[in-house]
Amino acid sequence: MESAKITDSLYRNENASREELRFLIENRNAESAERLFERAREAARRHYGNKVYVRGLIEMTNYCRNDCYYCGIRRSNGAAQRYRLTKEDIMHCCEEGYRLGFRTFVLQGGEDSFYTDDIMVDIIGAIRGKYPDCAITLSLGEKSAESYRRFFDAGANRYLLRHETATPEHYAKLHPAELSLANRIECLRVLKEIGYQVGCGSMIGSPYQTLDNIVEDLIFIKSFGPQMVGMGPFIPHHDTPFAREKAGTAELTLFLLAIVRLMNPKVLLPATTALGTIEDNGRELGMLAGCNVVMPNLSPISVRKKYMLYDNKISTGDEAAEARASLERRMEKIGYRVVSERGDYAD
Ligand code: SAH
Repeated sequence: MESAKITDSLYRNENASREELRFLIENRNAESAERLFERAREAARRHYGNKVYVRGLIEMTNYCRNDCYYCGIRRSNGAAQRYRLTKEDIMHCCEEGYRLGFRTFVLQGGEDSFYTDDIMVDIIGAIRGKYPDCAITLSLGEKSAESYRRFFDAGANRYLLRHETATPEHYAKLHPAELSLANRIECLRVLKEIGYQVGCGSMIGSPYQTLDNIVEDLIFIKSFGPQMVGMGPFIPHHDTPFAREKAGTAELTLFLLAIVRLMNPKVLLPATTALGTIEDNGRELGMLAGCNVVMPNLSPISVRKKYMLYDNKISTGDEAAEARASLERRMEKIGYRVVSERGDYAD
């Protein structure tokens, strides 16, 4: 086997075997990465040109009923200062976002039962009514099929729910027993069936993650056929059981993002905030590895520091929604163009 051959066949066939993926990842070096990135950029360009889509991320609550070992807003973290945005707060974020050129709003949060389905339907309906030209993305965790259906009928278009890891034994090392990979995947299936554009994804370098786990993630993503993939490095949070674990690397994250692009050429692929947190030019490097989305923070500045999923999460520099002009310049420098479009999946 040879890395260049695998890369070229990945590009041509949009697929690879477990053995090829393992070889490519295990033997990666600067040279094989460069070839991979070049092909990944080409694949992205074929479907999306040099466009960078932006999504305004509204972190609506950091209350969470779950206790994921990696996450800074897990329910057992007594040190987290909890907050919830009101409907008015959220509408205000959208107003500001629209003015700044955002045409997708992402409502993300912990699993917070304060927001009943009726409350969510009211909020989603209000955004839909006021911004008929915008996409509404939800990232609110695991819900019933009925809740997902009601949110969709109220006007939501997309749903982000990372599968986190496609290996059940690994999933069990990252989550308490009440959470299961089977349910996570069932949620993803239901979301797709309802008609959402769906995003799955995983953390790179999460505790106990093996190369085989990573390969299973890539195979799972390919077989699920998501419209979006969220993949960023794991970063420890000091008030979680994983406080002393190592962070994932930007180097491996970028390599895997490029593989995701080649296996799923049309996927909407963000250079994540976590990547921007561990690497200064993370957003640019992400684009150069085949990404085509960035998700600047549109939350009220007063709550940004409270939505701390991991240590040092950036929120006020160039990744902030209000820094759009600066983001545009940075992207232009590497030949990319930030656009004010919904940026739907290229069918
Ligand atoms: N409650 C929602 C949103 C979770 S936050 C849900 O369950 O989908 C969004 C993503 O942040 C998670 O899916 C997870 O992959 C990522 N995340 C959480 N803690 C992290 C950490 N310590 N390092 C890197 N990413 C993390």
